[in-house]
Amino acid sequence: MSVTGPKLQPTLFELSGTGRAAGRRIPAPPADALERLPAAARRAAPPALPEVDEASLVRHYVNLSQLNWGVDTGFYPLGSCTMKYNPKVNEWAARLPGFAALHPLAPDETAQGTLEMLWELERDLAEISGMDAVTLQPAAGAQGELTGMLLVRAYHRARRDLERTDVLIPDSAHGTNPATASMAGFRTVNIPSAPDGGVDLEAFRAALGPRTAAIMITNPSTLGLFERRIVELLELVHAAGALAYMDGANLNAILGRFRPGEAGFDVMHFNVHKTFSTPHGGGGPGAGPVGVRGPLIPFLPAPRVLREPGGTFRLERPGERPASIGRMRGHVGNVGILLRAWAYIRAHGADGLREVSDDAVLAANYLRGRLAADGAYEVPYPGPCAHEFIASGAGLKRATGVRTLDVAKRLIDKGYHPPTIYFPHTVDEAMLIEPTETERLETLDAFADALLEIAREAHETPELVTSAPHTAPVRRLDEASAARQPNLRWRPRPLG
Ligand SMILES: *Cc1c(COP(=O)(O)O)cnc(C)c1O
Repeated sequence: MSVTGPKLQPTLFELSGTGRAAGRRIPAPPADALERLPAAARRAAPPALPEVDEASLVRHYVNLSQLNWGVDTGFYPLGSCTMKYNPKVNEWAARLPGFAALHPLAPDETAQGTLEMLWELERDLAEISGMDAVTLQPAAGAQGELTGMLLVRAYHRARRDLERTDVLIPDSAHGTNPATASMAGFRTVNIPSAPDGGVDLEAFRAALGPRTAAIMITNPSTLGLFERRIVELLELVHAAGALAYMDGANLNAILGRFRPGEAGFDVMHFNVHKTFSTPHGGGGPGAGPVGVRGPLIPFLPAPRVLREPGGTFRLERPGERPASIGRMRGHVGNVGILLRAWAYIRAHGADGLREVSDDAVLAANYLRGRLAADGAYEVPYPGPCAHEFIASGAGLKRATGVRTLDVAKRLIDKGYHPPTIYFPHTVDEAMLIEPTETERLETLDAFADALLEIAREAHETPELVTSAPHTAPVRRLDEASAARQPNLRWRPRPLG
């Protein structure tokens, strides 16, 4: 494997030359350094490390960083992912040594500040969602879902209600939902959407019964739509003795406007990295807290953060709450990410958070309106949308042969990160576009102009679009091989 192309970097191994290592200037180790190491810990041969001078090393990484795309470099309308701006003050807060240098096993007495921050964040998330209690432990949204489903299982088992094997999942749910339900040992039942994009109530009624453990619903859905039949749905679920799970990854659209706990959801997860800042491009790290209503509290993961009557904080001790489903990950969660969420929530306050959602919804509806008015792409579901919306390139493909994939690649030439494409699967040639709340009107207009210009190019010079990108360091990649046979490891040749 070799990395080539004018803007790409040779690897450090390719740059390496014997004797060039900057590290050679480190003072010589004591003569008996080797003897001090246990024999089992010693290598038989030196490791094959590249030797590179410091200036080349710095240039290597700085140039690599220029190939990266993030919200700090440009507009990033990746639907379903909520690529939020991460206020820089959060980075400062997360790096404060009192937080950043705290050992995860530090005794509670020496970790009071962090424990208090976590305790407050649990309360803030409970307040925002209308839930009774929150665990911060899950490492991401998908692990939050698993935690939620294990809580559902524990709840039914504790009531000796053992025949509930099914989880009903609308086809507009996120793909992680059915995966999670199966991982937790449930059978998943797919519920189709009605023509308006909401859950088909008749199909739902037919699937619901004494075997139903829960419904798992993404709200707003991956179609960018708020579920209008939520009240009826939740009444039916509870009448059947089942629980209602809300995938809250799209909370960015409903802060201060809709509280899932108040509406009757029993359990939900948050993606704090999609709603309360954190730079989450590249897939992580994140945090996926889970909120529950009263009857599920005994089963929450351990250890919880407790506030003592004197106002100090401590972690639950092992075995203190026997009904707990146990640990979902080490320690108390991704504290650095949770701290950014705490800072974001505290900086905005209740009114600020409602404004965040209002602006996110406004931005999405504005962009949707501009595309709908032009007609070059279809905008399939009736508006208004939540904080993201679906457009489809199916008509463009029929007229010109240019596919949504080509449009996405051509956007790169025009200086934009493409939106999510071919998701959700229920829409032909789908684009899922999510502008987030911090974008300027000028940016939204320029992005809409770029999309419409590409549609014109598709009619006039389709090969310009189908052979894009033209300006990126790499052209079309073999995505099937990249997914099926990922080649992620550099195997060094032996260094002489
Ligand atoms: C992102 C997302 C998830 C998964 O969250 P991760 O933090 O990526 O594990 C689940 N559901 C929805 C709707 C999402 O957008």
